[in-house]
Order: sequence, then structure tokens, then C-alpha cells
Amino acid sequence: MNEPDWQLVYHAASEFEAALLVGLLASYRIEARYQGQMLLGAVGELPPTDIQVGLWVAPRHAEQAERILQQAQQQDGADWQCQCGEDNAAGFELCWACGRDKDESK
Ligand SMILES: [Zn+2]
Repeated sequence: MNEPDWQLVYHAASEFEAALLVGLLASYRIEARYQGQMLLGAVGELPPTDIQVGLWVAPRHAEQAERILQQAQQQDGADWQCQCGEDNAAGFELCWACGRDKDESK
């Protein structure tokens, strides 16, 4: 079996968000990878939160992955704000910035 090329399906706002989404996709049996840290060296002045992290999946999973990511962000309608002040998409159960549980922020 040939190793597929990877297809970019999403830009996460942080590595933390990307890692959450990789976990989300894994629960659908979609293998995902994220990348971004390797670009960090070239743009060292930017704070980590300003660096977008590409999320990649195999092309055969790209459509499904995009749907899942869209649903995750539309879930429950409203975004929520964490106690740390960061806004999170409704589908996230944990704050992408600090990892706090959504329920703790209500
Ligand atoms: Zn937070």
C-alpha cells in the first residue's frame, strides 16, 4: 500500500487546538497530523498563539474530516469563553489555550 500524500483540511489557532482535533478525528478512525512547530524557528518573534497550525489527513479522509471539523465547531450553536479569557468553538470540551474544562467556565 502506498503512503498517501497528506491533505491540508484545517488551520488550527494553536498546537493545543490541533492536538485536540487530532484526537477528535482519531475517534472517527481518521488519522490526522498537525504541523506548525517546525515553522517556528523562522518566525521566532511571533507568540505561539499567533501561529496557525496546519491539520493534515489522508486525501481519502479529507471530505469526512472537514465535515467532522465543521460539525465540531457548529455544535451547540454558541462559542464559549474560558475563564482565561479565550474564546472557544462550541464543539470543544476543553479550552484550546489552557485546557480547562468547558463546564468549569459556565
Ligand atoms: Zn482557557
